[in-house]
Amino acid sequence: MINPTIGFIGLGIMGRPMATNLLKAGFALVVFDINSAAVKDLVEIGAQTASSPQEIAEKCKIVITMLPDSPDVELVCLGEQGLIKGLKEDSLFIDMSTISPKVSIRLAQILEEKKVSCLDAPVSGGEVGAINAALSIMVGGDAQVLEQVRPIFEVLGKTITLCGGHGAGQVVKACNQVQVALNILGMSEALLLGKMAGVDPQIVHQVLSKGYAQSRVSDVRGPKVVQGDFQPGFKSKFHYKDLKIILETGKEYHAPLPVTSLVHDLFATLIDCGRGDLDHSGIITLLEDMALDIKTSRLPEKEAP
Ligand code: NAD
Repeated sequence: MINPTIGFIGLGIMGRPMATNLLKAGFALVVFDINSAAVKDLVEIGAQTASSPQEIAEKCKIVITMLPDSPDVELVCLGEQGLIKGLKEDSLFIDMSTISPKVSIRLAQILEEKKVSCLDAPVSGGEVGAINAALSIMVGGDAQVLEQVRPIFEVLGKTITLCGGHGAGQVVKACNQVQVALNILGMSEALLLGKMAGVDPQIVHQVLSKGYAQSRVSDVRGPKVVQGDFQPGFKSKFHYKDLKIILETGKEYHAPLPVTSLVHDLFATLIDCGRGDLDHSGIITLLEDMALDIKTSRLPEKEAP
C-alpha cells in the first residue's frame, strides 16, 4: 500500500499519540476533534485539518476514529456533517474506539451498503501503549481488508489479531475489560487490606509484584495508586461505559457475569460521587470511603440505665 492520506478523528489521551505516530511514520494526516486545542497540537507537527467529519471523508480514503463511546461514533459517522456524507466507494472506515459490538455491526451494515469497507479495531495497552506504538489491536471484519491496512496498524501496535467478523474486535475488547476491571478491584482490595492492617502499601505492592499475584495492571498502576496519583490514564467514566457494554453483551448471549455486575455497580457509585475523570484505579477511593464509614458510623457506646 502506498502511504494514503489518513483522516483521524478524536485526538484525546489515545488518539493524539496514535496520530502522532502515524505522522512520524510518514503518513499524511487530516485531523478533526471538537477540542480545537487538540487539533492545534497536531497541526504544529504537520497534520492538516478539516472542519467536519464529512470534509475528512471527502479528503481521505481511509478514516480512523478514536472517540469516547458508541453515540459519539454514531454521530461522527451518521450525523448531519458525518462521514457518510463524504465517504466514497472503496474507502475504508476503521473505528478504534471501544464501543458496543452491536453498534459496530450496525454501522458496518450501513456503510457497506455504500461500498465502504469497515473494521472495528479497539485497542488495549493504554496511553503508554499508544505513545510507545505498542498497542494490542483487536480486529473485527474482513481478512483482506485487514491486510490492506496492516501497515497502518503496524505503526500503532505490536499485536494485531483478527478476532472474527464485524463486532468481534469489540467482543474481545469487552472480554479484556472484564479481566482488567477485576484485576483493578483485586489490587485495590489487597492494598487497602494491607494498609488497614498496618503494613506499608509500598511493601504490599512490592511483594505481590514478584509472586503469583503479579499482573500488568498492578505493574503499571500499582506504584501510582500507592502514591495516591489518579491522573488518567484510562478514565473511570470510560471503564464504567465499558462495563455497561459488557453487561449488555453478556445479557444478549446469556453469559453469567456476577462479579462484573458488582464491579459495574461500584464504578456507577464512583461516577455518582463525581470521580468519573479519575483514572480507573481511583476505584480504591470508594473502598477507602467504605472503610471510613465503617469506622465513623458506629453508635457510641452507652452505659446501661
Ligand atoms: P479522551 O476523552 O481522552 O479523547 C476522546 C477525544 O474525542 C477528545 O479529544 C474529544 O474532544 C473527542 N471527541 C468527542 N466527541 C467528538 C466528536 N463528536 N467529534 C470529534 N471529536 C470528538 O478519550 P481516550 O482516553 O483517548 O479514549 C478514546 C477511546 O479509546 C475510548 O473509547 C476508550 O474507551 C478507548 N480506550 C482508551 C484507553 C486509555 O487508556 N485511555 C485505552 C484503550 C482504549
